[in-house]
Amino acid sequence: MSRAPSPFWVVKCPDCSGEQTIFSRPSTGVNCSVCGATLATPTGGQAKLRGELVKTIA
Ligand SMILES: [Zn+2]
Repeated sequence: MSRAPSPFWVVKCPDCSGEQTIFSRPSTGVNCSVCGATLATPTGGQAKLRGELVKTIA
């Protein structure tokens, strides 16, 4: 696992354009803290994003 990607992502909500930092490998879905829209869904590995990936945080 030494080549694991950056563990956190900054994602822009497609509905309200708010930016939120999320874990890149969530075990549950992640919702926007502002409007409640789904930002990411769990896949067992890296999340499937619905929002736009703004940047990664190492
Ligand atoms: Zn939102």
